[in-house]
Amino acid sequence: MQYEVASIPLGQHRLPPLPYPYNALEPVISEEALRIHHDIHHKAYVDGLNTAEINLAEARRNNDYNYIKYWENELAFNGSGHILHSIFWTVMAPLGRGGQPGPHTLFRINNYFGSFNSFKEQFKNATEKVEGSGWGILTWQPSWRRLEILQSEKHQNLSQWSGIPILVCDVWEHAYYLDYQNKRKEYIDNWWNLINWYEVERRLLMAMNGQVPLTQ
Ligand code: MN
Repeated sequence: MQYEVASIPLGQHRLPPLPYPYNALEPVISEEALRIHHDIHHKAYVDGLNTAEINLAEARRNNDYNYIKYWENELAFNGSGHILHSIFWTVMAPLGRGGQPGPHTLFRINNYFGSFNSFKEQFKNATEKVEGSGWGILTWQPSWRRLEILQSEKHQNLSQWSGIPILVCDVWEHAYYLDYQNKRKEYIDNWWNLINWYEVERRLLMAMNGQVPLTQ
């Protein structure tokens, strides 16, 4: 049986070329700024992501997780950076070439934000007021089948944007403190035996088809 159709091989992410020349976004974004942003900053995310993946593969091989927090952070920081920049380049076009919002975009925006203008004001305000470095993001929330505007403060807070959760384990203290007090490891060891692998398989198959089970 063929399970794997196409996936990016471990440690082999590549810097995607810009879909337009370096000077195409002038005068809004200068050629020099775009060149540095793409060739240096985005490239660093790609290299960092590959390095993190390779080091985590090494950790699995050696069963050595002493640096797991460091490499997971690198994986999230560089993974989100690579994903978000790859999107950023493609959602821009030279002045006058970007067209108008399409029918599905307009329908979903009006449906949730009330009007295009309300959406625009919230998006611009959310983006302007990100604390420190980060992104303003219009995201499709697949669990609720609707759009949402989110701020990503930094982007490395241990997630890779665009991921769909398959298996999750709650390690907030409220999840285990009554039963295990501070023994989180013991809770996780025991929790492992509770996993519903039928549901994990179902969620994975749905996610591979770009779907997420609807949450009320
Ligand atoms: Mn950037």
